[in-house]
Amino acid sequence: MATICVAFNLYSLPRYSMAYDIRLDTQNHYLYVNLNISFEQPTTDIITLEMPVWAPGYYMIMDFPKHLSDFSATADGSTPLQWTKTSKNQWAITAQGRQLQVSYRIYANEHSVAESNVGEQSAFIAPNGVFMYVKDDKMHSVTTTYHMPAGWSKASTGLKPVGQNEGSERTFVAPDFDTLFDSPLLLGNHFTTHFTHEGHDYEFAIVPPEGFEASGITDDFKRMVSATTRLIGHVPYDNYCVIHLGAGGGGLEHLNSQACFTSGTYRFPSRDEYLRHLAFVTHEYFHLYNVKSIRPFELGPFDYSRECYTPLLWVSEGFTCYYECRLLMQAGIVDGNYLLRDISSAIRTIEEGEGHHHMSLRQSSYDIWLNFFNHSENVISYYDKGPILGLLFDIELRRLTDCQRGLDDLMRLLYNRYYLELRRGFTESEFWQSAAEIAGSELTTLRRYVDTTDDIDYESLLTPAGLAIDRDTWSLYKINKVSKAQEKLRKAIIGE
Ligand SMILES: [Zn+2]
Repeated sequence: MATICVAFNLYSLPRYSMAYDIRLDTQNHYLYVNLNISFEQPTTDIITLEMPVWAPGYYMIMDFPKHLSDFSATADGSTPLQWTKTSKNQWAITAQGRQLQVSYRIYANEHSVAESNVGEQSAFIAPNGVFMYVKDDKMHSVTTTYHMPAGWSKASTGLKPVGQNEGSERTFVAPDFDTLFDSPLLLGNHFTTHFTHEGHDYEFAIVPPEGFEASGITDDFKRMVSATTRLIGHVPYDNYCVIHLGAGGGGLEHLNSQACFTSGTYRFPSRDEYLRHLAFVTHEYFHLYNVKSIRPFELGPFDYSRECYTPLLWVSEGFTCYYECRLLMQAGIVDGNYLLRDISSAIRTIEEGEGHHHMSLRQSSYDIWLNFFNHSENVISYYDKGPILGLLFDIELRRLTDCQRGLDDLMRLLYNRYYLELRRGFTESEFWQSAAEIAGSELTTLRRYVDTTDDIDYESLLTPAGLAIDRDTWSLYKINKVSKAQEKLRKAIIGE
């Protein structure tokens, strides 16, 4: 039904091109946005523009239009047009002629990876709260041109610039709004470093550069990228951009970039602190596979005007947490004890809390829209229980296949079948069918631990991998005397 509706709306829209011009008021934290829509034929249609109310990966309603003011619309550069708001994030304009100009300004002074911030030194542009698409036509291409303040020279983003990449203007073309919204941008005079690795281009755009080069992070990043490429067997991007903002909290994954706050420096007080940061970067990087390409059916193309519910965020986030350790292990940066310590910490959080008696892992995926910043005792986070299931999946798949297959094979199957071949996400039942296909049987026990609040019988799942758990401290440890089969499985999981 929805398909028929969209097709009708697309058919009824006049053909047009869209170009944005963006100017910055760095003193007062504003973005001045001008949109020009050029119609192929003169039109008197009502054009409805829509701005997102949330950003993928940041699963809460942000109501971005709350930062918008001074909306106006004109035809052919001068004639004021009638417009009206039709919902909190929609503007309906009666077009006239070939050209429609829309202008508005956005207050940009937030400290969040999902919202823009314009300051005197730099500007972080989170596109969901800046740009509008024509309703029901967000797969339309769009051009954005930024006019940078005097003295600024850098624009870092996953999108490639078109035309002259110098002076104060930077222009980018996105094939659709999903891509535009998934390409945050950092403007200013920040530190950048570029390199090519295994045929792909990389940029680090760093606001706190102190200690960056001495930290060795680009070498470790390359090792991690190589380990990820070996795991999946395919790289879906030409270029990748790492945007690291100053001191703050949170990070957000994007199609071929990531935007993260940091501790404000690259002079880490300890190796553990450095590894925590590297694991964070790895987590956001691995999301370009697990959530952007290996993705639940509901996660794209997106409806930006309301919540986007999926029962599978424990796969997208939980397995990514598992892989942030596993990839660093496979890159030779940490050993198996690091993985065991990390999963032990997640088990401790779950088992010492009350939430696991009240909320299943599956439910936590739906309720993230209620609980993005709520950590009350009646809830659990898929960031904690999800990686536990990651480890248990990996062990169980290997146990059932005599170590012939594991979680890596499931991730590859999902990537190849749904992303590369079918060009879509997988449904919940397709996920469980795919897992059963790798395992050679249904994973009923694991499914029960996802769908219900039943206590996890750790011992029966861990023992085949030569692992045990101390229930006083919820610490995983290696069993001393193990059979050949246990030794083989444990080696596959923790490399020793
Ligand atoms: Zn994540």
